Amino acid sequence: MENGGLKPMDAEQLRENAHRMVDFIADYYKTIENFPVLSQVQPGYLRELVPDSAPNHPESLQNVLDDIQAKILPGVTHWQSPNYFAYYPSNSSVAGFLGEMLSGALNIVGFSWITSPAATELEMIVLDWLGKMLKLPEDFLSTGQGGGVIQGTASEAVLVVLLAARDKALRRVGKNALEKLVVYASDQTHSALQKACQIGGIHPENCRVLKTDSSTNYSLSPGLLAEAISRDLAIGLIPFFLCATVGTTSSTAVDPLLELGKIAKSNGMWFHVDAAYAGSACICPEYRQYIDGVEEADSFNMNAHKWLLTNFDCSALWIKDRNALIQSLSTNPEFLKNKASQANLVVDYKDWQIPLGRRFRSLKLWMVLRLYGLENLQCYIRNHIQLARHFEGLVAQDPRFEVVTPRIFALVCFRLLPPHNDEDGGYKLNHDLLDIVNSTGKIFISHTVLSGTYILRFAVGAPLTEERHVNAAWKVLQDEASALLEKVSG
Ligand code: PLP
Repeated sequence: MENGGLKPMDAEQLRENAHRMVDFIADYYKTIENFPVLSQVQPGYLRELVPDSAPNHPESLQNVLDDIQAKILPGVTHWQSPNYFAYYPSNSSVAGFLGEMLSGALNIVGFSWITSPAATELEMIVLDWLGKMLKLPEDFLSTGQGGGVIQGTASEAVLVVLLAARDKALRRVGKNALEKLVVYASDQTHSALQKACQIGGIHPENCRVLKTDSSTNYSLSPGLLAEAISRDLAIGLIPFFLCATVGTTSSTAVDPLLELGKIAKSNGMWFHVDAAYAGSACICPEYRQYIDGVEEADSFNMNAHKWLLTNFDCSALWIKDRNALIQSLSTNPEFLKNKASQANLVVDYKDWQIPLGRRFRSLKLWMVLRLYGLENLQCYIRNHIQLARHFEGLVAQDPRFEVVTPRIFALVCFRLLPPHNDEDGGYKLNHDLLDIVNSTGKIFISHTVLSGTYILRFAVGAPLTEERHVNAAWKVLQDEASALLEKVSG
């Protein structure tokens, strides 16, 4: 960089440096398999490698890139590696990346329509497009009383709708009734709901975490929900919010939306559907059935950044009654007043979310939908599901292992069977196997616990994953399992 006279946004300097950065990134993707997929550094490793204060004078881009290569990349867990099978995926793609780049370049802060009309209008249009791809009911589209909005994460989505539902209920029953409001969900629901309740002032003793087990494949039983609601009504409490999940975080369980939704509706409750992961699969006609019943929902959420090739972050939330959200979250300070907003002619997304500022995130989703098209995206999803089916078959062929829950999407829940049916030892055995395979750096998988059983999770979904990676991953698991079993029995 030049020494004299800072030129922070010189177009020619941008051209030169950005080309070099794109080369750096392309090389990273080309060689991504050379890195250990799970970072192998120890806590605090970076402090020893970088100075403890910022430089007084500019450094060269080359110096910084060298440091990224030598000091930062070793501390990166490579979510885009084809050998990444942990948690759920977080997809990047050329189209998503280009959109992200453009969004960074324009660098607008689009809180009100007037701050960049295109940002608001494109977001409304693109979420209508995605809503139609998912065959969401028309009430969720922006042409009626509803509409879509891009939140950062599913956690923010459930928080904002919980606040809307809370305030709607309090308007009905009186503002002093907060301590009587009750939330319902299953024990498989993401902890984001618990956090939303904490923020929203819902009393912890009023959060009903309904038990699931293998008899329903860990989906929420409508019978249990109905009983819990009746019990609460009988003691004067006010059921107001139900969160169902399509594709739970642990095991992709699918709650029965239609039945649950009818119960929620008949009790005047808000019904939110969290399809953060599995929502993407529902753009395929053969998987759309898993959100049948979404017509009963008041709000629906899926993360395009998980499995729909849109770089993080892009969590799509649709709501049927946008006024409910706006009534909870809108403010109207003098310094933001403008003609379009005052005349009620426009959507101001600041009133649909927690922060004021917001990025131009619809660009990347728009780029993904346009540069790939629905058919390619459907093939992309189907390919991952096919690879997961393939992995499931490999596990099933090895009698030392078992598939624990039925695979629905692209997550396989499995475990190494404990020798001599020693169930107590099974927990440690699988825990050890997880640590051992992840410390090889060759693959990265994660775990969960269902009904007290420790389970390994293998989630196919990284954009670069091919069958050879799945086969190689299975070989790592088999080899390490053999060594571990030998050690345990010896
Ligand atoms: N809901 C489900 C079903 C999830 O699987 C996850 C994360 O994996 C979340 C919510 C939380 O996602 P976020 O990080 O977008 O808040």
